[in-house]
Amino acid sequence: MRPYILAENNWKNLKNAKIDLAVLPWGATEAHNFHLPYATDIYEADLMAAESAKIAWDKGANLIVLPTIPFGVNTGQSDVYLNINMNPSTQFAVLSDIVEVLNRQKIYKLLLFNSHGGNNFKSIIRELGLKYPKMFICFANWFQSLDRTEYFDDPGDHADEMETSLLLHLKPDLVLPKENWGEGKEKKNRITAFQEGWVWSERKWSQISEDTGVGNPAMATKEKGEAYFKAVTSKMGKLFSDLCKADLEDLYE
Ligand SMILES: [Zn+2]
Repeated sequence: MRPYILAENNWKNLKNAKIDLAVLPWGATEAHNFHLPYATDIYEADLMAAESAKIAWDKGANLIVLPTIPFGVNTGQSDVYLNINMNPSTQFAVLSDIVEVLNRQKIYKLLLFNSHGGNNFKSIIRELGLKYPKMFICFANWFQSLDRTEYFDDPGDHADEMETSLLLHLKPDLVLPKENWGEGKEKKNRITAFQEGWVWSERKWSQISEDTGVGNPAMATKEKGEAYFKAVTSKMGKLFSDLCKADLEDLYE
């Protein structure tokens, strides 16, 4: 039993525990090119959060990883078969219930460990922060924690070289052989301002990619996945430790 994983822990162990930080991994259930499993984001969230928590726990941090939420915001992929969407308003309701419990039980620090680009928690955190002033809620996108160009030749956005490398390392039995990998070619918006990145609209996924991927996985290897997994989890492990130690009354310098 890993004592920092709530799903594996028990009442005997936890009834008198004092936890500083709760970590909530959040994934999505969606197609990842032709060759990666629908639960790609869930496996990444699960395994990265657990390893990061282990690193922090071994250094004395008092934290608990909650079970991973399996559905994310997939509003732009409603026509991709069996992509399951959870609306932002539902995410607000789910988080609201979890935060209410943590707040009542005096676990005032919560980190959302996000695995899916369509999940955006800023406005939800602002609103819940107003409602629960004692709570410190933050979110991290692990896929933005490092400069991916240092680890990959052709980093993309979705089911790309990075995610394919990670799954080759984490769940090799669930990755189809290379002859099945699509090119992950993305069609860009014709309007310049969108290409420059300062105007945003949701992409209609089935119009921008033929294989659901964005980013070419061709150069993926399990060695790259392993190196990147180690680097991300060691950086996240430090974040978990820092959050545990942080004095919420004296956060700024
Ligand atoms: Zn993904």
